[in-house]
Amino acid sequence: MDATEFRRRGKEMVDLIADYLENIEQRPVYPDVEPGYLRSLIPEEAPEESETYEDVVKDIERVIMPGVTHWHSPYFYAYFPTANSFPAMLADMLSGAIGCIGFSWAASPACTELETVMMDWLGKMLKLPEDFIAGTHGQGGGVIQFCATLGTTPSCAFDHITELGPICNAEKIWMHIDAAYAGSSFICPEFRPLLNGIEFADSFNFNPHKWLLVNFDCSTMWVRKRSDLIGAFKMDPLYLKHDHQESGLVTDYRHWQIPLGRRFRSLKMWFVFRMYGLKGLQDYIRKHVELAKEFESLVRADQRFEISADVVLGLVCFRLKGSNEVNETLLKRINNGRKIHLVPCQLSGQFVLRFAVCARTTESRHIREAWRLITQLAEEVMQELPH
Ligand SMILES: *Cc1c(COP(=O)(O)O)cnc(C)c1O
Repeated sequence: MDATEFRRRGKEMVDLIADYLENIEQRPVYPDVEPGYLRSLIPEEAPEESETYEDVVKDIERVIMPGVTHWHSPYFYAYFPTANSFPAMLADMLSGAIGCIGFSWAASPACTELETVMMDWLGKMLKLPEDFIAGTHGQGGGVIQFCATLGTTPSCAFDHITELGPICNAEKIWMHIDAAYAGSSFICPEFRPLLNGIEFADSFNFNPHKWLLVNFDCSTMWVRKRSDLIGAFKMDPLYLKHDHQESGLVTDYRHWQIPLGRRFRSLKMWFVFRMYGLKGLQDYIRKHVELAKEFESLVRADQRFEISADVVLGLVCFRLKGSNEVNETLLKRINNGRKIHLVPCQLSGQFVLRFAVCARTTESRHIREAWRLITQLAEEVMQELPH
């Protein structure tokens, strides 16, 4: 493929992506395939001779789509959201084209510097303490020994970090805070109190690739003292040395991580932050929380169901009042129907259904439709099983 063909195919691919996302809700959210389905659909060996681009594209619908779980369908309520936005996809294309490996400042200064600035932008959106914002110097070491979670995966529960923090500090235990999902919500002043106690933490991370419209992967971590990390991962062979590294003015991110290479991910953040603005991002979070509250009200209004955990953000944990068996059967029916997709969790020995507002395009009508399906199947299950 030369540049002329790339121009044409690139535009076609953008159309294909836009068509896919615009019509995604017509597809069954969960695929109807058995393990190994794909092997029989493609040859045993790679082709000897080159094929055409048309041949490849034809196989997207034939081979790939039947086995796709559509995470961006408004009927997807499983796990947690994974972010998806048009600006982030465009930035990802550019990142692919630049294709630099950002292990040091010299390996591509823009890649390193934009990342540093985007981390500061994002840290300030969350009102992180000053110490976490770039520009601090310190020393030390240590390994991660303690992890507090803000927004656990099963039920979005919150550890009491204002209680755990002083103990960790007094005992000199490294305190890391994982807010993979909930972290995005801290850009809204009304949710920022959930992060109180961050003053005690040594490190903190969350995933903009979950709930901040930056496509996978983009997981952001701050440390109070960057020397803690650099001391553990420093890697300085002669062939990676560059003129500025001793100046103390540049960051070489290879020392902050286990791998050497890294992608130019901050472009996605830059595009998304600029094109949505803080207000747009806050509106997005609030809308998802409202949709979760709407679902919670529907559950609460139905005497047959109960809410199993506080609904703080975009996740609702609920169940039929009754046995675990009846709830397991209900979930199986829901997922076999392939119209909506949910996963369970276990809370205090109870089998609980998790309803996470996930897709960017989920609206109130999808929530109501999901609830209609759930109650219809619940009706059937309750007639068949003792509960
Ligand atoms: C989703 C999630 C993770 C995993 O995040 P990845 O970076 O996508 O692997 C870790 N911790 C919590 C609490 C999560 O919700």
